[in-house]
Amino acid sequence: MVNQNQSEAERRNHRKLGQELELFTSMEEAPGMPFFLPNGMVIRNELENLWRKKHQAAGYREIKTPIMMKQALWEQSGHWDHYHENMYFSNVDEQNYAIKPMNCPGAIAIYNSKRRSYRELPVRYGELGLVHRHELSGSLNGLLRVRSFTQDDAHLFVRPDQIEAEIANILDLVDDFYAHFGFEYRVELSTRPEDYMGAKEIWDDAEGALESVLEKKNVDYQLNPGDGAFYGPKIDFHILDSLGRSWQCGTVQLDFQMPQKFDCSYIGDDNSRHVPVLIHRAIYGSVERFMAILIEHFAGEFPLWLTPVQAKIIPISAEAHADYAYEVQAKLEKAGLRVEVDDRSEKMGLKIREAEKKKIPYMLIVGDQEMADESVALRKRKKGNVGVLKIEEVIEQFISEINK
Ligand SMILES: [Zn+2]
Repeated sequence: MVNQNQSEAERRNHRKLGQELELFTSMEEAPGMPFFLPNGMVIRNELENLWRKKHQAAGYREIKTPIMMKQALWEQSGHWDHYHENMYFSNVDEQNYAIKPMNCPGAIAIYNSKRRSYRELPVRYGELGLVHRHELSGSLNGLLRVRSFTQDDAHLFVRPDQIEAEIANILDLVDDFYAHFGFEYRVELSTRPEDYMGAKEIWDDAEGALESVLEKKNVDYQLNPGDGAFYGPKIDFHILDSLGRSWQCGTVQLDFQMPQKFDCSYIGDDNSRHVPVLIHRAIYGSVERFMAILIEHFAGEFPLWLTPVQAKIIPISAEAHADYAYEVQAKLEKAGLRVEVDDRSEKMGLKIREAEKKKIPYMLIVGDQEMADESVALRKRKKGNVGVLKIEEVIEQFISEINK
């Protein structure tokens, strides 16, 4: 059983599939910083499109903050003292800068850029933020462990009385995302550690709010007493892949410290100044790492909406049918589908085998008959011939599979 699982894990290895399917590559020029190839960018963009769509609908506003900011900001955030070893630095115009290892200070700077009233809260900022963290070269592993990656980050500035409702919204959003990929997941709640910062009463209230939401929503969770961050309690989400392996991806962290450190405030209905609670959260975790998990989970056989090349059009004779093949391609592309034509003068059998090896889900074979009645002979990977369909019918079928 163990051996079977090992060979199955090897077959699904994301570095191997990343190379075979031309998704991403690594180069000596930037160790631990992946280069995304056109096929990999398709998957990335689909993940980011889904992220934008779902966050827009959930009341988030997207921001983008600089990847390089002045040293003073990182001194204020505490990263300079506590995270220096893992950061990259630069000096421009005799000013010291740091490349961001986290997105929080940028989001806070935007929150602080104007006066806030209690009526505006919660302010929900989403950011696909590129961060750099120096990891030892021996620990680097494809897309799973990298030195540069994009967090699907969000920072919510909320009033204490809004914590429970906001956490409930986040739990719904997380559930919606993972269901989209068919992932089961487990939930862990981590509470106050021994070396906590801030007032014990605020911790008690926040932990109470988190527990109460989890219970109201009937979420099964594991309690990890004392495992919270020093700045606040957190909920972690671990997804389960097709091999039964568990990966921590999502996290929701309450933070009472950073808003104090950065002097964040809002004017309450009592006309006086209050400090908001900051919620940091991610759902994919890192877009790169989530991609690695998806590659291994699906063994490179992605659902149609994520597949880089959704169909290969194969003319029976390169000479006689290539023009028609390109016409079919144009029609499918106009409908938003991703298709390629294989017009090499190779044998049909070889072209089909190659397309199957590249895990392209559909092949559209075109010859005299198809040309005459504006159709294609549809072939499904691993299944063989499906039948002859009109071009419009193929488009309809693909779109309905993508949207299901
Ligand atoms: Zn943050």
